Amino acid sequence: EAAAATTINGLRGPPAPRSIAAAQVQEVRSITRIERIGAHSHIRGLGLDDSLEPRAVSQGMVGQKMARKAAGVILQMIREGKIAGRAVLLAGQPGTGKTAIAMGLAQALGPDTPFTSMAGSEIFSLEMSKTEALTQAIRKSIGIRIKEESEIIEGEVVEVVVERAAGGGGARVGRLTLKTTDMETNYDMGAKMIDSLLKEKVQAGDVITIDKATGKINKLGRSFARARDYDATGQQARFVQCPEGELQKRKEVVHTVTLHEIDVINSRTHGFLALFSGDTGEIKSEIREQINSKVAEWREEGKAEMIPGVLFIDEAHMLDIECFSYLNRALEQETAPVVIMATNRGITRIRGTNYRSPHGIPLDLLDRMIIVPTSPYSHQELREILNIRCEEEDCQMSSDALTVLTRVATETSLRYAIQLITTASLVAKRRKATEVSMEDVKKVYSLFLDEHRSEQFLKEYQDEFMFNDGSGDAPQLM
Ligand code: ATP
Repeated sequence: EAAAATTINGLRGPPAPRSIAAAQVQEVRSITRIERIGAHSHIRGLGLDDSLEPRAVSQGMVGQKMARKAAGVILQMIREGKIAGRAVLLAGQPGTGKTAIAMGLAQALGPDTPFTSMAGSEIFSLEMSKTEALTQAIRKSIGIRIKEESEIIEGEVVEVVVERAAGGGGARVGRLTLKTTDMETNYDMGAKMIDSLLKEKVQAGDVITIDKATGKINKLGRSFARARDYDATGQQARFVQCPEGELQKRKEVVHTVTLHEIDVINSRTHGFLALFSGDTGEIKSEIREQINSKVAEWREEGKAEMIPGVLFIDEAHMLDIECFSYLNRALEQETAPVVIMATNRGITRIRGTNYRSPHGIPLDLLDRMIIVPTSPYSHQELREILNIRCEEEDCQMSSDALTVLTRVATETSLRYAIQLITTASLVAKRRKATEVSMEDVKKVYSLFLDEHRSEQFLKEYQDEFMFNDGSGDAPQLM
């Protein structure tokens, strides 16, 4: 017998606010994905084969095999969810690809694993406390995969009634009676579902499926039985027999959002629009606590899964002692992401103290890190990296120009040589050449100084500069 009318939720759009947020978050992601030609835009992964062995040149990555292999092991551990709460330190000289490896790891993890990248100094420039900035960064690096079950109901149409609502503006209202195995159920239909129904020309006797989340109707065909009192207009008909078997299938809808996104959406002072502006300010700790317990509840009920992602902190020596001790504690929490830091400093002062330690990182934190060293590149590797950068910048370069540029990279720095590609390419264009020649490279080498020549220049002309302290010592790195 006909059961009470049921309203299909999905007809009014996705049910919970978090689903809406998930859709919007995805848009935010796709915007950030539009990349300009940046310093690392040629990096498309770690360049590893299936057994995680580094290929010589692959996915924009060259050499640095040991570090890439180590990153591959870390990648595997993250994928298997084994490494939450660990910290990794990429340590090596400037320009040895520490940032590049972190970017490659992010690419290899794919868009579903949250990856947050920041420089140590960013902590000091935001309009919030250092620990709040770190907390936000940590929560941006933890994904929550929310599973929502959507039901697909399959059955045979007994009766379809679509009519104009009385009195009002004449909006359509509708009711659908569907017979599944042993019972008939009446569904109230919203506008979307009525549209879908009319489009599919559903009549009594048709076997259909309804997706409860979206209200979409699919017609599977006519049933084997015939309607007895079937009305030719299809608008009103009664049907009694039902096909064999019945069916409610369950379909899973999965959204991935970060803990930080859930924080922002639920923070009444900001609302989800803050996700677009990034202007989230400080988030109250009560909100975070509520969200933590909600997420824990979802996890217990099997509705949500946690995906520990990666927080990458470049220039880690710029963090100070408060940040380090905060991180040290944060790493112990169950919800900690993998923290990867990079630094090019040797033994140096820990910011905020008078103590010196390796990489400017306190010993107790250093002790719990796995340290991956990077080493300087060979001549051949430098040439290969420069060649890849030329391709990335759409720059044709003659072989002898590349040889000169590689020499420049060996004698100055890889970064400086990479900068010269862009400038040399402009010079070549100005003389309407399609290929950068050795002369172009030499010209920009003389126009733009590298760090060493700039220092020489300053020493030579120190008296003519304002505010020169006159000591003439080599500039000190911080
Ligand atoms: P710093 O200590 O100064 O921050 P870093 O070790 O982080 O330096 P990167 O910024 O990664 O160095 O490297 C400098 C440039 O060289 C970047 O454009 C980077 O993409 C490129 N590069 C470095 N190593 C590789 C590599 N193995 N393969 C391809 N490109 C690389």
